[in-house]
Formats: sequence, structure tokens, C-alpha cells
Amino acid sequence: MDGKVASAAIKEKVKQLVDERKARGLKTPHLAAILVGSDGASETYVASKVKTCGELGFNSTLIRFDSDIDEATLLQQIEKLNQDEDVDGILVQLPLPKHVSEEKVIETISPAKDVDGFHPVSVGRLVQGLDSFIPATPYGIMLMLEYFQIPTVGKHAVVIGRSNIVGRPMSILLSSQLPYGNCTVTVCHSKTKNLKELTLQADIIVAALGRPGFLTGDMMKEGAVVIDVGITRVPDATKKKGFAIKGDVDFDSVAPKSSWITPVPGGVGLMTIGALMMNTLAACERR
Ligand code: NAD
Repeated sequence: MDGKVASAAIKEKVKQLVDERKARGLKTPHLAAILVGSDGASETYVASKVKTCGELGFNSTLIRFDSDIDEATLLQQIEKLNQDEDVDGILVQLPLPKHVSEEKVIETISPAKDVDGFHPVSVGRLVQGLDSFIPATPYGIMLMLEYFQIPTVGKHAVVIGRSNIVGRPMSILLSSQLPYGNCTVTVCHSKTKNLKELTLQADIIVAALGRPGFLTGDMMKEGAVVIDVGITRVPDATKKKGFAIKGDVDFDSVAPKSSWITPVPGGVGLMTIGALMMNTLAACERR
């Protein structure tokens, strides 16, 4: 599953919808991003979100704070964005410095503008099968399954990882009554004892644990669909940046056995921005 091809199609669709809105004199979607500190990966993610906004015809605002910002100031800024009529979507790039509570930050974002889908209201709606903002990574995976028309109904999906941003929402979506859901889902995590026994039964495996090369060919059955969410920077002197990006799947042993597989890089990672833009457009339409 080539993320480049699928994400280009999603972005093209979003751009068309935004162009149509503008032609009809409707509001331009506006995403506000807050970046605290200067973590390399976070800088890259935020920069590419802002750049994509420009490409698709969205307005964007980037608000930066030093890493020693106090929590109250950050929460006040979020409140300001909540009140700003022109802003449709708010995201605060995670992770945050230790002295700032991610929970408080997420809960301060208005659920109507929660385009990352991390607010408990968004999660509750997702669990209940109601219209909701879906966290960008699992949403991107769902869009990928749809784009490549990968049958999921009645399949056994094993999701490795139960984080709030990937594993947990992924397991909910795959088990939901959706055209590319309706799976029987097993959720594995760090305390799972018989993981290999479970992955060997899976028709679809989603690896989202953050351990490079964890899933190997001997852990899967022939023909399984494998989705690699992992992004880990591994030191690599041969690369200009000094590191290589590695997924949670050992591509060389898994690819020959799989019917479909997402590469890293060039797979799921590319889908997440398209999904975020879909959420921001939806926020604008709903408001
Ligand atoms: P996390 O650390 O919050 O969660 C990891 C999960 O994996 C936990 O639930 C843990 O229980 C489970 N786990 C850890 N070791 C395990 C083991 N040995 N066996 C089974 N389960 C185990 O990580 P996260 O935020 O969910 O991210 C997971 C990976 O996905 C990371 O590599 C991250 O960088 C990547 N990620 C990629 C994207 C993307 O756009 N492609 C987005 C978000 C995260």
C-alpha cells in the first residue's frame, strides 16, 4: 500500500472540496497549530501540517512557545483559539514538556475544534459510533484500507499497541460497523503473553508499538495484511541526517508472506496529514 499514491488522492479530494467551498463564497477552513519547544520530530510534523494547509487552500496559524512556558499561559492561548470565530481546528503538537499536563491541554480544546480527536468527547463519540473527529493516524489507516479496497468485514484483526493516539482508536474503528471495519479485533499490549499465537491467527495485523522490526515473518500467516505504524529514528551514519526511520515490521521477512503491506517510510505516516485535513474541513463544515 503506497502511502504516496493514497495520500495524494485524499489531498486532491480535500483540495477540490475546499475550492468548491470558496467558489460558493463559504468560509476557508482554518487550522491553528501550537508547538511548544523545538523537538526535531515535532518541528518536522508541524511544518509539514502547515505546508499542507497552504497546498490545499486552508488558512493556518502556527503559534510557538518556548519549552519553559507555564501551563496556565498555554491553556489561555487554547481558550483564545476556542473563542476565535475564524479558527475551525486546533491542534497542540504532542509530546509536551513534562511540567505541562497533556490531559489538561487536550480537555481545554473545544470538542467542536478537536481535529486531533483526542478529547474525551471525541473518543466517547467514536466508541458509540457517532459522527466524530477520528485521530489522524488510525483515520489515515482506514482511508488507506478504503483506497486499496482491502476487505475487512468478518476478518480477524490483531492490533499491537493500545495507546490513545493509535492502538486504542484503531481497535475501535476496525471493530465498528463501517464499510472498512466490522472486524473481530484482538488488542495486544506490553502485558500480552501469547502474542505470536495471536498474530499467527490474524488476517490483518496493525503494528503500533514503537519497536523497530518487532513483527517478523514467522509471526504471521501467509496472505495476511500488514500495517506498519511504527516510526523510530535509528542511528545510521550512512544517512545525511544521521538516522534512518524504521517501522515496527521486519519488512524483508514479512513482505513476501503478506498480501498487502505498508512500507516505512512511505506508508501510514503520509496518510496522517491527509486525515487531519479531512478533520479540519469537517470541523469547518460543521461550524
Ligand atoms: P506508545 O508508546 O504510546 O504505545 C505503545 C504501545 O505498544 C503500548 O500500548 C504498549 O502496551 C504496546 N507495546 C509496547 N511493547 C510491546 C510489546 N513488546 N508487545 C506488545 N505490545 C507492546 O506509542 P504510540 O504513540 O502508540 O506509537 C507507536 C508507534 O507508532 C511509535 O513508533 C510511533 O512513533 C508511531 N507513530 C506513528 C504515527 C504515524 O503517523 N505513522 C503516528 C503516531 C505514532
